[in-house]
Amino acid sequence: MKIGIIGSGTMGNGIAHSFASNGYNVLLHDIDEVLLSKGLDTIKSNLDRMLKKQKITDLDISNTIANISTTTSLDEMSDRDLIVEAATENLDIKLKIFSKLDSLTSDTCILASNTSSISINALADSTGRASNVIGMHFMNPVPIMKLVEVIKTERTSDETLNKVIDIAHNLGKEPIECLDSPGFVSNRILIPMINEAIYTLMEGVATKESIDSIMKLGMSHPMGPLTLADLIGLDVCLSIMNVLKNGFKDDPKYEPCPLLIKMCEEGKLGRKTGEGFYKY
Ligand code: NAD
Repeated sequence: MKIGIIGSGTMGNGIAHSFASNGYNVLLHDIDEVLLSKGLDTIKSNLDRMLKKQKITDLDISNTIANISTTTSLDEMSDRDLIVEAATENLDIKLKIFSKLDSLTSDTCILASNTSSISINALADSTGRASNVIGMHFMNPVPIMKLVEVIKTERTSDETLNKVIDIAHNLGKEPIECLDSPGFVSNRILIPMINEAIYTLMEGVATKESIDSIMKLGMSHPMGPLTLADLIGLDVCLSIMNVLKNGFKDDPKYEPCPLLIKMCEEGKLGRKTGEGFYKY
């Protein structure tokens, strides 16, 4: 089975790594060579780290790398059987990619998106093959995290769903199904929890360290919600809160916390800008 991956950023290179290390032929696409070689370098350094931990062998590394080729031309995706789109989280970009892939791949090719929050139905509408369009939402870091949230629309065929579930199992992942609804399951629960933690901080109920420690020690979360927000990026958290707010017709339950909005306006986006709730 020939796999195409669109986007070689954080998620795309991780998804390519997972497919290639499980024997799939992978064609990785991004808009320029520099981004593609950065993606490949990340895959190589992640493989080296696994070698040092004796989780894989030198042969596994060479086999994985041999399974990946790269291209800056979307046209080369024409012979693929499954394409996982992991480009920038922007509706227009994704609509253009889906419509182009629809025009150049065979009718049986499955078009999957790794989007965190964009409607799978909207992506399906830009193609003439809604029955072959599905969400395959991998978690970061992809080679390590077990979950694939599999998002189906009412038009996704059982054949497409079953194929994607089998493929996810072949990657050593746990696929779990849900319907196409704002935030799916993962982000509908996670991001409002983070938003509530930010309200708790804004209202002075506890310090940031206390809020994080209460959730770590009391709920066995591996990290507190404010630390996690810094890792995800506060801009990403805000944009997903807005997807939920719009998707649920302005339900006040999904109102982004004013402190979250203020920090985004100030450019305090978390780890990536050196400061969020904590300094890095
Ligand atoms: P990223 O910014 O690291 O990578 C996105 C890549 O897409 C970039 O390399 C960019 O050059 C490329 N790209 C942009 N336009 C393109 C186009 N027209 N054609 C081909 N490539 C294009 O972003 P990311 O964090 O890897 O996120 C990718 C997708 O995965 C998004 O939809 C995001 O919501 C989703 N996602 C992200 C995470 C996460 O933790 N980062 C988790 C789950 C899902």
